[in-house]
Amino acid sequence: MPSVTKMKPRKKIPAAEWEARVDLAACYRLVAQYGMTDLALTHISARVPGHADHFLLNPYGLLFDEITASSLVKIDLDGSVVEESDFEVNRAGYVIHSAILAARPDVSCVLHTHTIAGMAVSAQAEGLLPLAQCSMRFHNRLAYHDFEGISLDTDERSRLQASLGDKYAMMLRNHGLLVAGRSVQEAWSLNWSLERACQVQVAAQGSSTKVVPAPAEVAEHTAQQMWRGNDLAGKREWPSLLRQLDKVDPSYRE
Ligand SMILES: [Zn+2]
Repeated sequence: MPSVTKMKPRKKIPAAEWEARVDLAACYRLVAQYGMTDLALTHISARVPGHADHFLLNPYGLLFDEITASSLVKIDLDGSVVEESDFEVNRAGYVIHSAILAARPDVSCVLHTHTIAGMAVSAQAEGLLPLAQCSMRFHNRLAYHDFEGISLDTDERSRLQASLGDKYAMMLRNHGLLVAGRSVQEAWSLNWSLERACQVQVAAQGSSTKVVPAPAEVAEHTAQQMWRGNDLAGKREWPSLLRQLDKVDPSYRE
């Protein structure tokens, strides 16, 4: 596998696609910075602006803190590589992301993790409980998909699509978390809340005190408050997050 610095020089890339690449590479770096990676496993995708059938995915094998805008691989919804790349495509990544992006034209970024808290709650019979505000963001708004083994068969795509339905977040049972954002920023924001919700749940259940979920009507009211004006989710803090990354290592922009 070539090193990032020895990759072929990139072709001229349209400005809108380059912006999507920088945002997606930044999202990988943020997931790494906040400790949500599983080495080179898991994946985040972004649809290529102006090409609904094309999407960008991580170069398989690179750790998330090595990913750059130009190293992202571009594939289509059928799994064909659109542009020659020095890197492989993660097959399970292709199956999961192409399923969601094909079924949901409103979605432009899919973010999937295997965090300890996410996997732990994904294995709990009751799923996510309305224990804190971050949890209530997903009250009545979280899908569940039963585990079928590693997602290598395109056959699973129809069931992934049916499980997600019209929601923006899904717990993959015995596996991890998945969010589907209308932008990279929204996907990041949803993932942030869902990850914290799972961490809160695991922490609360680990205490010796009885855990008290919020009443269903309060959780629903809170979810409605949070989803009202949700188009701003993640966008307000995004420039600050990029500045935070730039202070540490701005190479995601390359
Ligand atoms: Zn996975």
